[in-house]
Amino acid sequence: MTEIKTLADRIEDLLPQTQCTKCGYAACRPYAEAVACGEANYNQCPPGGEEGVARLAALLGKPVIPLNSANGVERPRPVAVIDEQVCIGCTLCMQACPVDAIVGAPKHMHTVVAELCTGCDLCVPPCPVDCISMPPVTGEATGWDAWSQPLADAARERHNRREARLAREREAAEARVAARRSSAAATAATNAPAGNVSTPAASPASIAGNADAEAKKRAIIQAALERARKKKEELAAKGQAPLNTEQVSADVQLQIDAAEARRRRLGLTGTGAEQLADKPADEPAGNPPPSTPASTRNPR
Ligand code: SF4
Ligand code: SF4
Ligand code: SF4
Repeated sequence: MTEIKTLADRIEDLLPQTQCTKCGYAACRPYAEAVACGEANYNQCPPGGEEGVARLAALLGKPVIPLNSANGVERPRPVAVIDEQVCIGCTLCMQACPVDAIVGAPKHMHTVVAELCTGCDLCVPPCPVDCISMPPVTGEATGWDAWSQPLADAARERHNRREARLAREREAAEARVAARRSSAAATAATNAPAGNVSTPAASPASIAGNADAEAKKRAIIQAALERARKKKEELAAKGQAPLNTEQVSADVQLQIDAAEARRRRLGLTGTGAEQLADKPADEPAGNPPPSTPASTRNPR
């Protein structure tokens, strides 16, 4: 059977699929849909560069226009590199990566699988210790000259698989919360007639033990922060501080703001470890905060 493609499908086929959000949308697909319905212009994709604009112009029967600099610049393609000596294993970069190119486990160092990295920059801003750099790896080549259709196809597939997995995890978490609520409601109903069942108070020994564990955790975090601060100073002195931490999407900015708010609530100067501790038990570790609907996103 011949596949019938919509205009959005055909536009999406021409996009580089880095899922970088620089177009102002949550991913390549929402941007394709926005271009198809006339909500977005066809010159908002920096990874595609001039060649990308020309491809879209040809499809849409419109003139070739310059890339909109408000969305970023065409540049040699970078690849994320994690300084494993500084990484504190908070997992925030892994949660931000749209194509699952980062591997690691909570409280262990993380590594980028370079062959899978699209150079989208999305892992850089959430890193609380600024240990991710984005060195260019394509020499002078930019845009589609620094990318290829097989790479775009692979990135698209990985992104789609990730989205499906996150949706499954969200559904499972919601089901667990609903089951727990209903069980709690049933228990409360059963206990209601007694009216005076009290919860046993925590013992002084268990309170002291918890305080001790908390103090140790804070000491470890502060030591990690101190190491990270020194490393940052060294990198800044060498002109190698992390790149592109300003040009972030509204979605990523929301993640950063949420992380900062949690750190302030906990009265700490900030690592991802506390954010994990602060996460509800039912929130999946690999699940970023809910996305802002594409329609409410402002192009940068
Ligand atoms: S700017 Fe990034 S997310 Fe938007 S269409 Fe281009 S590659 Fe995809
Ligand atoms: S590792 Fe970082 S730069 Fe590479 S694809 Fe993932 S989020 Fe983007
Ligand atoms: S975000 Fe966390 S896990 Fe990722 S590189 Fe930075 S410190 Fe390591």
